[in-house]
Amino acid sequence: MDNLKIIDTHAHYDDEAFDIDREELLSSLPEKGVKYIITQGISIEKSKSALLLADKYNYIYATVGVHPEDVNTVDLNSDWIEQLSKLLNHPKAVAVGEIGLDYHYDGYDKDKQILIFEEQLKLANKLNLPCVIHSRDATKDTITLLQKHKPKGVMHCFSGSVETAEIILNLGMYIGFTGVLTFKNAKKAVEACKKVPIDRLLLETDCPYMAPVPFRGKRCDSSMIIKTAKKAAEIKELPLDELIENCNNNAISLFKL
Ligand SMILES: [Zn+2]
Repeated sequence: MDNLKIIDTHAHYDDEAFDIDREELLSSLPEKGVKYIITQGISIEKSKSALLLADKYNYIYATVGVHPEDVNTVDLNSDWIEQLSKLLNHPKAVAVGEIGLDYHYDGYDKDKQILIFEEQLKLANKLNLPCVIHSRDATKDTITLLQKHKPKGVMHCFSGSVETAEIILNLGMYIGFTGVLTFKNAKKAVEACKKVPIDRLLLETDCPYMAPVPFRGKRCDSSMIIKTAKKAAEIKELPLDELIENCNNNAISLFKL
């Protein structure tokens, strides 16, 4: 069944939800159908934690970046962008992420979010690295900045409209789907997934969040990604092994794994 091993392109294994059993869980994942994992950096400190996990496990890679909900950890008068740039020298740092815009909650200044997002897009382009993009309740501004900077990368945890998916695809980017695809009320994500060409599709968990059905509401981990893969195969009307092989190849090519 080795051909069915899946790359989880988006996970958060430094999250405190994994504090009780992180080592045991991570060690077990290769036997549970997981090929590689890309664990996400969300702040300077947490990017360091992500890189430590990548140091420890040969099947884990990491991203380095500041998430929109972590902009308050950044002192704009500091050398924060140089610090990120240095961390990206790590041989297993594969992308600038998780970065983007999130207008869902108050408390994360929009102008600061935009500034930090744009500086990181520029850094990714300068280093010729892909980006992992987060966008919540901020489609218009996110698209405007992606069209301005034209980064390589992926729009992660996609649940937007077909129209938005088409704009992302026209920019040459990939689209990542999580367990949301398996939710009963996920009609938009399913419609978008139908439209995404098989050579632009990525599978991800976003664990510990977004556990697919039948684990919805539980702590998610990368072994559950098979449920999302099965749903995507059904939507794309492809045999499961073919769907997985394509998504794995997309991840390998985008992130140079
Ligand atoms: Zn995430």
